[in-house]
Amino acid sequence: MSKLDLIIVGGGPAGLCAAMYAGRGMLNAVLLERGIPGGELLNTEKIEDYPGFESILGQDLAARMTEHAKKFGADIRMENVEGIWKQPDGGFKVTTSNGETYHAPTVIITAGGTPTKLGVSGEAEYAGKGVSYCAVCDGAFFKGETIAVIGGGDAAVEEADYLTRYAAKVYLIHRRHEFRASKVVQERALSNPKIEVIWNKKVLDLTGEVIGLKTVNLEDTVTGERSALSVTGCFVFIGFTPNSGLVRDHVAHDATGYLVTDDRMMTSIPGLFAAGDLRVQLTRQVTTAVGDATTAAIAVEKYLTDLKTGVRA
Ligand SMILES: Cc1cc2nc3c(=O)[nH]c(=O)nc-3n(C[C@H](O)[C@H](O)[C@H](O)COP(=O)(O)OP(=O)(O)OC[C@H]3O[C@@H](n4cnc5c(N)ncnc54)[C@H](O)[C@@H]3O)c2cc1C
Repeated sequence: MSKLDLIIVGGGPAGLCAAMYAGRGMLNAVLLERGIPGGELLNTEKIEDYPGFESILGQDLAARMTEHAKKFGADIRMENVEGIWKQPDGGFKVTTSNGETYHAPTVIITAGGTPTKLGVSGEAEYAGKGVSYCAVCDGAFFKGETIAVIGGGDAAVEEADYLTRYAAKVYLIHRRHEFRASKVVQERALSNPKIEVIWNKKVLDLTGEVIGLKTVNLEDTVTGERSALSVTGCFVFIGFTPNSGLVRDHVAHDATGYLVTDDRMMTSIPGLFAAGDLRVQLTRQVTTAVGDATTAAIAVEKYLTDLKTGVRA
């Protein structure tokens, strides 16, 4: 393999978009993806908020993005990245489970993250058929319906409030007797007449029919008493873990592990860029992921030029 300019880690929307721009910029780049390219698009039934597509299946958008990146020469390899290491020469070493090692002066990490799952029966079965981990993405599918939101932190309480713009009623279910969410967020949700808070309940399982979710089955965390709620949607907000631990040197991040970048998407490590869901930002969508990736890929070109011309030592 000739000398690489750039290694892209992760092949979701951000990684594929970065690979497309890297190809157009004539960079010698490789994209390392542990599975089929597409990232969270492959777990999303329909996307209705990507400009130019009023409605498109997640897997179709993933296939189009992959083909588009390949058309501009993207070299996509199935590799599970184990670590990204800063090297004494200022470049990077990327190691994979296949025992491969890649070297390049720049890396864009776009490895996304994983929403924490409830881990109960029915959760996987009804994912995309009532169970969701993204209010902005899926809220509009529940107009006039009764839904549940699970969690007690800022994300759960804020999203419960947000979802009342679509749903007729939102049960906000928390396993404790008080929320962890900030006071101002709590007050807004608690004064919303469409929200009913259900305290001290944990989800036992989710049941329904072929068409979708019908019931959230609960257990009282104090008395053990069981109950059931009829809902067509269940939004789970009990945590999200960004895959930023792949960076093996100290890199600036927030308390949850999201990577901090500047306006060029560069992290606190020069030459290491981050784009998409694993970056600190207000919202996490396909549009924001590809926006970040565009900036990152173009910033990489400028960074490499600066290295060559000695502007950056
Ligand atoms: C259920 C659901 C529905 C959604 N619906 C919408 C919607 O309707 N509209 C919208 O705009 N957004 C939606 N989103 C959000 C959107 O999917 C994400 O914001 C977007 O996919 C982020 O892109 P990304 O490339 O940053 O990360 P991801 O899509 O998470 O891609 C990361 C990629 O990195 C790979 N990776 C991770 N670790 C490694 C490793 N160690 N080695 C190699 N590869 C690795 C993963 O396999 C994955 O392919 C939804 C999300 C979910 C979960």
